[in-house]
Amino acid sequence: MTTAETCPARGSTSLRRRLYGLPSAAAMEEVERDHDLELGGCVISPTFWTVKCKDCGHEITLGETMSTFRGDPGDA
Ligand SMILES: [Zn+2]
Repeated sequence: MTTAETCPARGSTSLRRRLYGLPSAAAMEEVERDHDLELGGCVISPTFWTVKCKDCGHEITLGETMSTFRGDPGDA
């Protein structure tokens, strides 16, 4: 089950997630495991995820939580 997993411009599924802000330990582990994930840098702001299309560069903001991000343990 996925949400916002395709590029609205071309329907591409070649997407890369990027986490902005300070990543949680769980998030950093996911980034190390999954090459489709990356960190957006140490932005001084609440964390939020984006999805960027590898084909056309279109970027979609997912939100502050990783609720749309598989493997997220939440705020536990
Ligand atoms: Zn695209």
